[in-house]
Amino acid sequence: MNTQPCPGLSLEYFPPKSESGVEQLNKTRMQLAALCPEFCSVTFGAGGSTRQGTLDTVLAIREQGLNGAPHLSGIGASEQQIREIIEQYRGHGINKIIALRGDLPSGTVESGAFRYAAELVAFIRETTSDWFEIGVAAYPEAHPQSHNYDQDILHFKAKVDAGAHLAITQYFFNPDAYFHFVDSCRKLNINIPIIPGIMPILGFSRLQRFSELCGTEIPRWVTRRMESYGDDMASVRAFGLDVVTAMCERLLSQGAPGLHFYTMNRASLTTEICQRLYGKRPATT
Ligand code: FAD
Repeated sequence: MNTQPCPGLSLEYFPPKSESGVEQLNKTRMQLAALCPEFCSVTFGAGGSTRQGTLDTVLAIREQGLNGAPHLSGIGASEQQIREIIEQYRGHGINKIIALRGDLPSGTVESGAFRYAAELVAFIRETTSDWFEIGVAAYPEAHPQSHNYDQDILHFKAKVDAGAHLAITQYFFNPDAYFHFVDSCRKLNINIPIIPGIMPILGFSRLQRFSELCGTEIPRWVTRRMESYGDDMASVRAFGLDVVTAMCERLLSQGAPGLHFYTMNRASLTTEICQRLYGKRPATT
C-alpha cells in the first residue's frame, strides 16, 4: 500500500456515545490511518458534555501514532474550567488544539468567561505561551449569526491576531465562496493556512437540514439532481462522490493548503474521495 502522507490532509471525528459507536469509530480510525493524515481532530460537545470522550478519542488517535487534536469550545465555561482542560491536554503532551466559541446548549443563558473564540485563543496563548498550535473556525459563506460579511472577516482576523496558526472552514459546496473568502483575508493581511472543510455526502435530506442550520448553501443543480434520485441511495452516493471529488480537485489545484474531512466517523466516502484524489488504496478490514 502507498504509505506516503496525503499532503495537508486532516480528518475530523466526534466522540462516540455508545459501545457500538466506539466500535464503529475504532474501525473507521484504523481504515483511515492508511491515508496518513497530518492530524485528526475530535469535536468537543457544547458545555463540556464530551470532555472525557474527546480526550479518550484523542489519546486513542495518538496511540495509533497519529497527531490527535482536541477541539475546545469556550462558551459557558469559566476560566478555571478551561485552564484545567488545557493543562490536562498539555500533561498528555497534546500540542495542537482547535479553539471555538461553540454554541450555548438550549436553555443555557450564561456565556461564561469566553464570549467569542478570539478570547479563548488569547487565553490559551496567555496561559500556555506557544505550547499549542491553535486552529480556529472560518466561514467562507459567513457565520449563520453574522449580519455583515466584512465584520465577520474582521472577527476572524481577531482570532488570528490573538494567536491562531491555522483555520478550518465550515463545509461548503461552492468553491468560489472559499476562494473569495481567502482573497478577502489576504487583503487584510491574514496569512495563516485556511483549510477547506469537506463534507462527504452520506444522505441528502439530513445534509439539507444540517446545511440550513450552519448556513451552507447547496447549489440548486445539486439539490435538483439529488431530489430526482429519491430513495435511490446508490445514485445519491455516486453523484455526491463525483460532486465532492470535483470540488476537492479544484480546491487543491487552485491553491488550497490541504483538505479537512468531516468524516462523521465513517470511512468509506472519505477513503474513496482520497483514493480518487491521491491514488490511495483503501485499507482492508
Ligand atoms: P467566533 O469566532 O467567536 O464567532 C461566532 C460569531 O460571533 C460570528 O458570527 C462572529 O462574527 C461573531 N463575533 C466574533 N467576535 C465578535 C465580537 N467581538 N463582537 C461581536 N460579534 C463577534 N462547535 C462545538 O460545539 N464543538 C466543536 O467541536 C466544533 N467544531 C467545529 C469545527 C469547525 C471547523 C467549525 C467550522 C465549527 C465547529 N463548531 C464546533 C461550531 C462552532 O462552535 C459554531 O459555529 C459557533 O457558532 C461559532 O464558533 P466560532 O469559534 O466560529 O465563534
